[in-house]
Amino acid sequence: MSKRDYYDVLGVSKSASPEEIKKAYRKLAIQFHPDKNPGDKQAEENFKEAAEAYEVLSDPQKKARYDQYGHAGMSGAGGGFGGGGGFGGGMSMEDIFSQFGDIFGGGGFGGFGGGSQRSQAARGSNLRVRIKLNLQDMVEGTQKTIKVKKMKSAPGATAKTCPTCHGSGAQVKVMNTMFGQMQTQTTCGTCQGLGKVADKIPAGANEHGLIREDEEVTINIPAGAREGIQLNVRGKGNDAPFGGTPGDLLVVVEEEVDKTIKREGDNLHQELYISFAEAALGTSKELSTVGGQVKIKVEAGTQSGKILRLAGKGLPSIDSYGKGDMFVHINVWTPQNLNPTQKDFFEQQLESGEMVAEPSGKEKSFFDKVKDLFS
Ligand SMILES: [Zn+2]
Repeated sequence: MSKRDYYDVLGVSKSASPEEIKKAYRKLAIQFHPDKNPGDKQAEENFKEAAEAYEVLSDPQKKARYDQYGHAGMSGAGGGFGGGGGFGGGMSMEDIFSQFGDIFGGGGFGGFGGGSQRSQAARGSNLRVRIKLNLQDMVEGTQKTIKVKKMKSAPGATAKTCPTCHGSGAQVKVMNTMFGQMQTQTTCGTCQGLGKVADKIPAGANEHGLIREDEEVTINIPAGAREGIQLNVRGKGNDAPFGGTPGDLLVVVEEEVDKTIKREGDNLHQELYISFAEAALGTSKELSTVGGQVKIKVEAGTQSGKILRLAGKGLPSIDSYGKGDMFVHINVWTPQNLNPTQKDFFEQQLESGEMVAEPSGKEKSFFDKVKDLFS
């Protein structure tokens, strides 16, 4: 289906002023309004078509793109309506009616949904920082104090009520229309809707009385935090202009790479080296891992490559109440640089023919072990 040119739809020339475009759209919106044309599909199509044309031609950026590329310039990221919907499907009736706040104003135009209240409570912007955590922090949770550069209310900064809107944050215009008097409400241009403007601004502060400063913030990190997780510290972002609610501090977790312990999901993997003699005779070892020391019992005759599973010694799970496991990979260290006594011992063993590799067939191959880990 070929789309009609937006200028043709509104019946205006390419050089039409914003006021002319608005006027043309108002006329069509009234003519094709569904309340006036119940059940008339064609009127509804015309109504939507006009709304779409107006949506583009009333927005300087979209209009410029449309002028340059036509309809082709209107699809794709950033060009569409309300977040990526694109133009293909046209506007919903809801979109259209919400647009009417600008066209017809707030005052009682039946069915047009009323104007949006524009005065906004001032809120500071959010700040985002990164924080490095080691595995220990992730297992046990921790508290970190970091220095944050943020916008703070400068001492001595004062504000006064906006002289233009008298604190409401909105400017109301009264228009005479064919429906009678109507009010249009727009954001106050003097205070950008804050209702207040600066009175005294100390040196170094911006027009909102804010100044950039370091602040130490202590962040509680719960057990189970993981790479990429975002923690929200309420109220620790930038201060709001003139005493509103401060923004939040968003803390993004980064995992510190550990040289000896590898993480795989909630599970941890660590290597343990034992001597040839320990492997043959059995021993017990202390392994220092996340959360402290762990005692490991090594059975007599343990083969290199054996994997011991320590249930529940991994990371707390994010999506369930459980905990991951710790896998200890045993490596038998073959002796090097033997002294004469050791050399004698091994030579005797070799000559006797009693110390030989004799797998019983019950040993798990490397691949079986890997399979076990994932089952
Ligand atoms: Zn104002």
